Amino acid sequence: MNIDYKKLAQKYQTPYYVYDFDHITNQYNELKEAFKARKSILAYAVKANSNLSVIKHLASLGAGADCVSIGEVKRALKVGITPYKIIFSGVGKTDDEIRQALELGILMINVESAAELNRVDSIAQELDKVARISIRVNPNIDPKTHPYISTGLHENKFGVDIDTAKRMYIQCKNSNHLEPVGIHCHIGSQLTQLEPILEAVEIVATLVKNLQAIKIELSFFDVGGGLGIVYDNETLIDTKEYAQGILKTLFGLDVTIICEPGRFLVGNSGVFVTKVLYEKTNGNKRFIIVDGAMNDLIRPSLYNAYHKIEVLNDETEKSLCHLVGPVCESGDFFGKNIELPLTQHNDLVAIYSAGAYGFTMASNYNTRGKVAEIALEGGEDRLIRRRESFEDIIALEEEFIK
Ligand SMILES: *Cc1c(COP(=O)(O)O)cnc(C)c1O
Repeated sequence: MNIDYKKLAQKYQTPYYVYDFDHITNQYNELKEAFKARKSILAYAVKANSNLSVIKHLASLGAGADCVSIGEVKRALKVGITPYKIIFSGVGKTDDEIRQALELGILMINVESAAELNRVDSIAQELDKVARISIRVNPNIDPKTHPYISTGLHENKFGVDIDTAKRMYIQCKNSNHLEPVGIHCHIGSQLTQLEPILEAVEIVATLVKNLQAIKIELSFFDVGGGLGIVYDNETLIDTKEYAQGILKTLFGLDVTIICEPGRFLVGNSGVFVTKVLYEKTNGNKRFIIVDGAMNDLIRPSLYNAYHKIEVLNDETEKSLCHLVGPVCESGDFFGKNIELPLTQHNDLVAIYSAGAYGFTMASNYNTRGKVAEIALEGGEDRLIRRRESFEDIIALEEEFIK
């Protein structure tokens, strides 16, 4: 990626996110190609980066969408993803969200509890519709990732155990308003080991075979997302081995494979760019204070996540420092005890691998406007979300001042 960060800073000010759409294209094509031996849908996990232009770009490549709120479903539909490639997941869907999902006619609702299945059943009955159902199975597999982003253990809130899932499929079969069409598992995020994924797929495949024996035939096998990316020096899962491992595990099952990558598609397309305001030392601690903060990119504060950071100046001598933002929290940092060169006011700082779970987790904390988002495609830059103004931030409160 060869990006003129200075030029973008002059044109759009700082801080900003920039996303290389050509990188997203390459990532999509690599994974799609890996599954080419079978029918597959890559359903982009919209929560990773839900900018409409990002989703639209993926839609143009043929992607479907994995959504965790009705808002995300509507984003996907808005940019032209066909309802038949949209999945609605999540442990806490409201009645209203279920109703809308049924009315919008999406591919399937991914149900995460027996209680939720009952809600979907009665709402579908009220609307006189048949709800296409997939059930999220929690295979109790340790994905060996950060505990905050592990989702496939019984101690996590996601999905249902195998026995509950089986009972739920039987309930679907016996209901006039539920049609079992798919099965799903997603064991965690930033996965760097293939074995736990294949173990999970194997457990779920066994259930699919047991269901076939009682005449419940599923058409979609959703292996979830979670493929990791390089933030630092991780060894990644090879996409060919990943796809081939899954295809082999599903041998003999006539199912369309769904895969739900989020981070893998967009994570390394994105860079968060901020500029230096001040340097100071407290005692012997050196701080660089920049104009971006935890409200723009919360991953370091939230998960102690590592992002590679570079100061874009010509200084060569480096020393230990903390790179922090202006927000009034000690947890507001991008890097702690990292080696960075001496900086001057207005030097730019690039924080890499920020395309996934960056902007989508941003907030207005400290009445800071959300930053601009920029797309790069074929060497051309364009704005895909304008910087929020003070007026934008107060827009929904102003009329209520007494
Ligand atoms: C978050 C999520 C994904 C995407 O996870 P990544 O690690 O970004 O690939 C896929 N499926 C479900 C159900 C999710 O909740």
